[in-house]
Amino acid sequence: MANTKFVEYFEKKVRKTIRKYKLFTKKDKIAVAVSGGKDSTVCLYILKKLGYDLEAITIDANIGNYTKTNLENIKKVCKKYKIKLHVISFREEFGTSLCYMQSILKSKGHDYASCKLCGILKRYLLNKYSKKLKFDFLATGHNLDDEAQTFLMNAFRNDTKRLGRQGPISGITKSKDFVQRVKPLYLLSEEEVKRYSKILKFPVNYEICPCSVNAYRREFINILNLFEEKHPDVKYNLLKFHEFIAEKVKPKKAVKIELCKTCGEPASNDTCKTCQILDELKKK
Ligand code: SF4
Repeated sequence: MANTKFVEYFEKKVRKTIRKYKLFTKKDKIAVAVSGGKDSTVCLYILKKLGYDLEAITIDANIGNYTKTNLENIKKVCKKYKIKLHVISFREEFGTSLCYMQSILKSKGHDYASCKLCGILKRYLLNKYSKKLKFDFLATGHNLDDEAQTFLMNAFRNDTKRLGRQGPISGITKSKDFVQRVKPLYLLSEEEVKRYSKILKFPVNYEICPCSVNAYRREFINILNLFEEKHPDVKYNLLKFHEFIAEKVKPKKAVKIELCKTCGEPASNDTCKTCQILDELKKK
């Protein structure tokens, strides 16, 4: 497909995704979670181009040059397209970087994988600031590959709770305590997002995060890419299969969101994961 046709196809598919899954409307105020990588940059650019009311939020995990470059890149994009950017950093919020927290936790007997620790803390900050800044939705750059991988990972763990929460609108129920996450690139593959980003010449870093080299997810990325080479549509089929399963495992009634007794953020126990981690870091 020629580049101009591809760009048209790509943007049409994003519009279709927003409509089909009723992600949000032009009346909503949307926060776009950006990392400086291709997926979130593409998501931000398209939603802006489509005329949505949005601002960008980035969480800097302070992973050396990798996040430094990403931050510079996303600042350039936001400046060029006149988008307000909120920068929140691990150092300012938690007093230190991801790697340092990970090593302190490890010395205390808690062996968190980088992405797991990073994910918990980022989700916490994104929800906290999306609420504080009064956004209706939080859009992320997750694509079809991410969804297919997540589905397999949840299936491999027999994690039906997460299976039910996964999808184009993730998270549980609508609530003032929880800003729902929506995925406008849900039906587009990683390769398609990469191609779009390269055609538009976005200043993004195509290298993977140095902390994710040994991530559990990487094994699923490799497996699925291998299958997709031989059997096209494997990822899309997984996504559709997940949609079928999700309907069956989703709670039928609205779920009440429990709040952390320490910080007031959503939690599955008395204390949320982030507060448990911060408590652990403070212990002598
Ligand atoms: S790849 Fe993992 S460690 Fe790196 S920024 Fe993403 S979640 Fe954090």
